[in-house]
Amino acid sequence: MPAERRANRDETLNSIIEGRKMEAYVEHMTKEMHTCWICEKVGYRNRPMKNIGGRYICFECLKQLKESFTSLDKWEAEQQLEKEMRKKIDDSLKM
Ligand SMILES: [Zn+2]
Repeated sequence: MPAERRANRDETLNSIIEGRKMEAYVEHMTKEMHTCWICEKVGYRNRPMKNIGGRYICFECLKQLKESFTSLDKWEAEQQLEKEMRKKIDDSLKM
């Protein structure tokens, strides 16, 4: 085989190999890719995600959830106060 034709063949083979490598890489990345259940952001290895009950939740959303949980008591108290106030206003309107 003339050297030129061999070089062409090598080039073709190389481009096929590069293509396969790219496919394998994408497949590999997809396996590590998760979508946040809450904000739907896509996470790779560099965006930490927690698997909770088979669903992935990103760190930012978890942080927000944690804040909601810690302020839950305060929120509940506010709701209770609101309810009492509304009741008092209703009662005063009935009189
Ligand atoms: Zn998220």
